Amino acid sequence: MDSALINIYDLEFEELKNEILKLGEPAFRAKQVWKWIYQGTTRFDDMTDLPKAFRERLKGVFYIGGAGIVNKFVSQKDGTRKYLLALYDGKVVECVLMKYHYGNSVCISTQVGCRMGCRFCASSQPGFDRNLSTGEMIAQVMAIRNDTEEKISHIVLMGIGEPFDNYDNVVRFLRRMNSQNTLNISYRKMTVSTCGLVPGIIKFSEEGFPVNLSVSLHAPNDEIRMKIMPIAKRYSIDNILSACNIYTQKTGRRVTFEYTLIKDVNDRNEHAEELARKLSGLLCHINLIPVNSVEETGYTKSERVESFRRIIEKYGIPVTVRRELGSDIAASCGQLRKRSVERDRMVD
Ligand code: SAH
Repeated sequence: MDSALINIYDLEFEELKNEILKLGEPAFRAKQVWKWIYQGTTRFDDMTDLPKAFRERLKGVFYIGGAGIVNKFVSQKDGTRKYLLALYDGKVVECVLMKYHYGNSVCISTQVGCRMGCRFCASSQPGFDRNLSTGEMIAQVMAIRNDTEEKISHIVLMGIGEPFDNYDNVVRFLRRMNSQNTLNISYRKMTVSTCGLVPGIIKFSEEGFPVNLSVSLHAPNDEIRMKIMPIAKRYSIDNILSACNIYTQKTGRRVTFEYTLIKDVNDRNEHAEELARKLSGLLCHINLIPVNSVEETGYTKSERVESFRRIIEKYGIPVTVRRELGSDIAASCGQLRKRSVERDRMVD
């Protein structure tokens, strides 16, 4: 493909309008094109209310950078759909569609690979490749919407990658998905999950939108956290909690702390006590996740989820245990891409 072409999903509406004016076409053409692409159209030839000659000229400037479905797995248990999607350069990312009683939620990736190196996570293992552009994040949502033909009501950034390590593209993506002229998804139905990049949390609190913030804590103290999350060496739990306090004050939203329970690592009663004491007083919610065992990590599922939950509850902190959606289709972060990259390496 001609690399001088512009991915139309990467443009803001005003930018598209300017490009179309440069082609000598009236501004209303930009509205028509915009409407088509956010309806899910992936070919200029399908934009039937545009003159044919204009469609040809569009092809000389833009491409619709959709994501191709390489593989799709549908859970027989709960209808969760996991996708392996290919981007324009052939790199692959993962997304998941989860069906809840309140609507359909898509979980998308923000990077090809990840630099954070969390020991239990499959995303880090094949290494980091590159950031995704705003358009490539949009392409994931549109690919799932086109495939299911169902309304997407929620977006979570919990796929491959660390959203705050690709901050500007992520914020542009959230704003775009919120726009009335695209998918019109409310900020309150969007969630960004971070491993705790403190400057990112603080900057995010200043964006002026009520997006849900999820922080992957996974440990009650820095000592344990450092063993499983290298980023803990850069930012302490105290630093993270101060930043979260700022976030709740600025946005009025409670923060969710993700806590993956790993057998013999962070699942003892005293860990629950320590965690609850540390978080008391903060506008928050704890989400306990039974770890998904990933080959080569050596970590296994804790059987202590219930007792851990009860202790936290005793401290009056809202706590839930994440439903394990799609457990029959390896729907956990990075597992599919890891397999796909490994397969490619074997072929090489
Ligand atoms: N980088 C971001 C978002 C991607 S990971 C973050 O760290 O939050 C999304 C969530 O899945 C995180 O809470 C992550 O810690 C968790 N996760 C990763 N691997 C997991 C595994 N094997 N089992 C359970 N949860 C896992």
